[in-house]
Amino acid sequence: MNTPQIIDHPSPNFDERHAGKNLDMLILHYTGMRTAEESLARLCDPRAKVSAHYLIDEDGTLYRLVDETKRAWHAGVSHWANETDINSCSLGIELQNPGHEFGYRDFPDAQVRALTTLCTDILSRHAVLAERILGHSDVAPSRKEDPGELFDWRGLAAAGIGADIVGNPVERLSGGQKARLLMALATIDAPHILILDEPTNHLDIESREALVHALNDFPGAVILISHDPHLVETVADQLWLVRGGRVAPFDGDLGDYRRLLLSERGGKTKGQKGGKKAGKAAELPAKTAPAPEQPSARETGRKPSDKAGGQLRAEVRAHERRVAELGAERSEAEAALADPALYDQNDAARIEHLTRKLGQIKAELAREEESWLAAQERLEGAV
Ligand SMILES: [Zn+2]
Repeated sequence: MNTPQIIDHPSPNFDERHAGKNLDMLILHYTGMRTAEESLARLCDPRAKVSAHYLIDEDGTLYRLVDETKRAWHAGVSHWANETDINSCSLGIELQNPGHEFGYRDFPDAQVRALTTLCTDILSRHAVLAERILGHSDVAPSRKEDPGELFDWRGLAAAGIGADIVGNPVERLSGGQKARLLMALATIDAPHILILDEPTNHLDIESREALVHALNDFPGAVILISHDPHLVETVADQLWLVRGGRVAPFDGDLGDYRRLLLSERGGKTKGQKGGKKAGKAAELPAKTAPAPEQPSARETGRKPSDKAGGQLRAEVRAHERRVAELGAERSEAEAALADPALYDQNDAARIEHLTRKLGQIKAELAREEESWLAAQERLEGAV
């Protein structure tokens, strides 16, 4: 194998990789500056606070700026799969190219050859999966085109470096990539109406924001089924209430809906309601009764108002416990969904089941927190 010729050009812009992070990604960039001299100056300027491990000039000259063991500052605000500290787990390679701002042009053969040699050398020393050899814009949504459309990923993949993502089997995509692919499939024919069921599941915060913008810009109608209050509040013009086997427009916002649920629950005696939700409501007092911390001794012989206070305190504690339980269930479901193995197995039914379950847990948690708060307010009013 060819060992690349390297010119050391140390940059002060680096720190230690954060503990527990493995070097398992390779991020390719273009410099977006007119010349390699300019790029080197910037990547070594302490005030710029940016760097990369390597820079490859258009003639193939290869510079090492930061030692591979150190954390170079090339990825900025970025994320991939569940990783947000890309700098700690990647090597950054800058390709000299003026970029879209100063005259984007082909990456010359000499540069691509040097890159191929460097990458082959890196891959012989570090275990980097093909799908984790990426462009800066793949991991940083703010970088729209970097290294851009002229970069030949297919050629690189043909040289055994990285994956041509177009050829990736769908089952090997991450949950977020699958969600984006489905969205692309749903919108590619420019439909007049979109029906979206929990579209923010699997999406990180930036993708959620992008979805909000896209939905607000969408000229057609959108029917949205969601437990995500932020999405509903920023996108929906009209809420519809589905219950009792009927669908009707709901004249109010999510706050009104919460108040409606609370007032209904407060207005009925426990155990009186039918159906699934009543089962949950009836569960609470049943669970509370034998609780060991019930201050029963203090209550005996006291006035009825004290007894009511005791009941309220027990109710608050029951909600508190339920909130804690649901919080644990939520973490468990989230961890299960974040497990990459789940997507390797391509078990759509299980992914869907977990997603649905997580949605239900979140919804119940929101309701339970409201009830907890309401019970606490009543308790404060009662004592
Ligand atoms: Zn970049």
